[in-house]
Amino acid sequence: MLSIAHLENWIRKTMPKLQPLYDAAPYPLRNVLTSARGYVLTQMRYSPAFWRHLEELLEREKHSPEEMEEYQNDSLRRLISYVFHHVPFYRQLMLERNVRPRDIRSTKDLHRLPILGRETIRARWKEFLSDDESKGGTVRVFTSGTTGAGLPVVYDAPAVARNQAFSERQRIWAGVTPREWRITFLGSRIVPLNRSCPPFWAYNYLEKQILMSIFHLSPAYISHYLAFLATQCGKVLEGFPTVLSIVSHMARAAGASLPMKAVFTNGEPLSMQGREAMESAFAAKVYDSYGMTEWAGLIQECERGRFHVISDYGILEILDQHGQPVPSGQEGYLAWTGFINRRMPFIRYRIGDKGMWDQDQTCPCGRPFPLVSPTVTRDGDNLVLSDGRILSPRAINQVLKNKTSFKVCQLVQHDKETLEIRIVSGNGEAEKEAAIVKKDLDMLLMGQFHTFVQFAREPIQRASGKIPLIISAN
Ligand SMILES: [Zn+2]
Repeated sequence: MLSIAHLENWIRKTMPKLQPLYDAAPYPLRNVLTSARGYVLTQMRYSPAFWRHLEELLEREKHSPEEMEEYQNDSLRRLISYVFHHVPFYRQLMLERNVRPRDIRSTKDLHRLPILGRETIRARWKEFLSDDESKGGTVRVFTSGTTGAGLPVVYDAPAVARNQAFSERQRIWAGVTPREWRITFLGSRIVPLNRSCPPFWAYNYLEKQILMSIFHLSPAYISHYLAFLATQCGKVLEGFPTVLSIVSHMARAAGASLPMKAVFTNGEPLSMQGREAMESAFAAKVYDSYGMTEWAGLIQECERGRFHVISDYGILEILDQHGQPVPSGQEGYLAWTGFINRRMPFIRYRIGDKGMWDQDQTCPCGRPFPLVSPTVTRDGDNLVLSDGRILSPRAINQVLKNKTSFKVCQLVQHDKETLEIRIVSGNGEAEKEAAIVKKDLDMLLMGQFHTFVQFAREPIQRASGKIPLIISAN
């Protein structure tokens, strides 16, 4: 039987082909189509299992730190036994190292398994898939990381419901009830790119969501955005930090007052300036979170403004360059062991971001989750088009998402009209995928740049070590 996960997977694969039909549809029909697409996601996110998970999560946050540690060790033992029996990569690894599930009883034993880098997963990703055939089917998504090195990630419908429950718990911290109306500034192409008059948004009625286009933010159109948002005050706002920063700066410049209930950001580092701009423009607290498409770990900000490692979602280790734990207050690499995605589990996954344990581990919110300060920063410019549209790195990232053959892809803006697509190739498919990226970018930029592909040996790196996605050369 066709499951909801099969359907979701089919939609994801077919979407690029359906986009021109969607774009040609009149606005009311676009709302119907957006809602129909939303229906499938809603079915997975808010399944009956979701409500059970959410209830458990709300119970669990009342645990003592000791009870939480016990829960974590218990989850780890179950995970290790599962991967040994069902995930080829880990089975082989454990056999080679002569490690058996009984040898890993708690987080203290994790060092018996090696740190896992993104490159290993990229090269051998199929071996990370569990052979435990679930009847519900799986969904394949892509993560582009920070600079266009794509990685396929597979999950099933139960994992979607579990993941959603964690997001919802954070919303409850902000006083938001499950399934309240929300306005989102995320990556979907819900408005035709060449559209020059409102609406720059679409409704997903079933999930009570208003999706705003992140591809039409320009001084010429912003008054339409602000007028629309003014009719939606008091709602929940969510989106990529760089995108919401652009909106808040424009709102402040226009002197608009847009009080919202709460603002949720994720998907990119949030700068202090970005946070201040949003809290002032939307007169609401910003709740940031740090997660990843791989669903291996999660950090969420509570109502007291502190960042908690969500320890019922996964295990975080903060390690130095030799793989040794760093003391609190000292920066190290984040390595994650995730509990929620059984179809593609990652253990000790070093994702490249850094952070440190807070020296003061007491938060007035009283939850049993350890406190960290992520020091993840992504440095990169926005791309300004000659028609005034401002594209955030996250908007550009949408065209790189499913490209798996690049080590790095960067955009270098040489002048007002010239944009270099600079690629460090990872395998033989790179030329083919580069041509697709060029085509998609040309469409997104609507001919406002002359783009060309340049293959390079090394990425452009800032003195800080960061590899930005967008670089203004002037
Ligand atoms: Zn707290």
